Amino acid sequence: FSTAHDLVSKATHAKVGRVPVALGQRRLRIVVTGGAGFVGSHLVDKLIDRGNDVIVIDNFFTGRKDNLVHHFGNPRFELIRHDVVEPILLEVDQIYHLACPASPVHYKYNPVKTIISFSINYTFFLVFAVFIEFWHLVFGLNYENLVFEVLDCDYKTNVMGTLNMLGLAKRIGARFLLTSTSEVYGDPLEHPQKETYWGNVNPIGERSCYDEGKRTAETLAMDYHRGADVEVRIARIFNTYGPRMCLDDGRVVSNFVAQAIRKQPLTVYGDGKQTRSFQYVSDLVNGLMALMDGEHVGPFNLGNPGEFTMLELAEVVKETIDSSATIEFRPNTADDPHKRRPDISKAKELLNWEPKVSLREGLPLMVSDFQNRILNEDEGKGI
Ligand code: NAD
Ligand code: UDP
Ligand code: UDP
Repeated sequence: FSTAHDLVSKATHAKVGRVPVALGQRRLRIVVTGGAGFVGSHLVDKLIDRGNDVIVIDNFFTGRKDNLVHHFGNPRFELIRHDVVEPILLEVDQIYHLACPASPVHYKYNPVKTIISFSINYTFFLVFAVFIEFWHLVFGLNYENLVFEVLDCDYKTNVMGTLNMLGLAKRIGARFLLTSTSEVYGDPLEHPQKETYWGNVNPIGERSCYDEGKRTAETLAMDYHRGADVEVRIARIFNTYGPRMCLDDGRVVSNFVAQAIRKQPLTVYGDGKQTRSFQYVSDLVNGLMALMDGEHVGPFNLGNPGEFTMLELAEVVKETIDSSATIEFRPNTADDPHKRRPDISKAKELLNWEPKVSLREGLPLMVSDFQNRILNEDEGKGI
């Protein structure tokens, strides 16, 4: 009887040599973790359109089969229900690692699992496990269940998930792209943010499972790059919106659009003067592919430099969907960054990439998708 860990450990010892595959020589095989989610499913569409073979790994925590249903039956597409916290054996050329509970509602729901998906500090857990075993031997207490409780929560996805995908990339010589986040800059003291800025993050706050999880994931990626020669790529993604966003995941664009369609007041947190820079999803997908196929490790900021206060965003949503919509102020959440705008000079120069879709052009492109899903939801409830 072999466990997944045994199988992966055996396979890891029988390492395969790196076989570089030039674009165009044969069809690239690509894994997209989190491919049933918002960004992942758009990326999968574009990779399939380009003629690649795509394997999606997703545990459907926030992702939906509906986002991929149009590829079912296509022999170049495969969907695996799997939690990246567990090891997996595959043979592919590129790994886009997106799997992560990415909205505040979801990552605050299970913070420990969120951070481990990025980068559990393995040594810490080994030391912890040895300590528990010692306790068990000396005091005769069985703390095994406690270890599993700790390992089985949301911090996991960011540490264990990233570690497993890097281990996979190392064994098969695949290129690995990490979708990190502008949240690594925390509540930034530099504005706009360049990739050289180290950030201002509260390491013990409610958001830290996400911020620190992604920061650790970046560390792991760079360690595998320097120490094991894995070809890594790091994208720092700024707020992105578009069709297929989760309806009720608490992000500001999806909240405002859904509220305007449902004829509910738009909920502005705090005084609404905090800023964000919003990027349309097709621009992000183009940036991710340019990064993966280019020669530079990064990190690269991928975002739209157009900066809006939340009150300005509410006005654009009103103009786009319902000019009679009202605004309701609510208390803000803890540690909310006051401002955020990417400096994208590095991506412009080295990836020849910049966003093309402005907020006023992009917002209308997600409205009919939201309208249809809200209508279906209401019909499901018999409304
Ligand atoms: P999403 O929630 O729509 O997609 C995440 C996907 O990962 C979902 O399909 C979910 O089911 C899957 N997933 C979560 N935990 C998993 C696990 N343990 N094993 C396997 N699958 C798992 O989020 P998104 O907006 O598409 O974000 C994709 C990536 O981009 C994330 O890594 C996120 O941190 C990053 N990002 C997104 C934004 C944004 O504005 N959308 C900004 C910065 C970074
Ligand atoms: N791993 C995986 N698939 C593989 C190779 C490795 O899931 O094809 C996992 C493996 O189980 C381990 C992690 O990736 O948990 C890191 O692997 P690595 O070989 O770098 O480290 P080690 O197993 O030597 O600690
Ligand atoms: N926000 C808001 N109303 C909402 C949801 C969020 O005013 O209904 C604010 C939130 O306080 C933050 C900004 O919008 O200042 C962006 O929040 P989001 O969760 O979308 O992204 P992030 O904070 O991760 O950049």
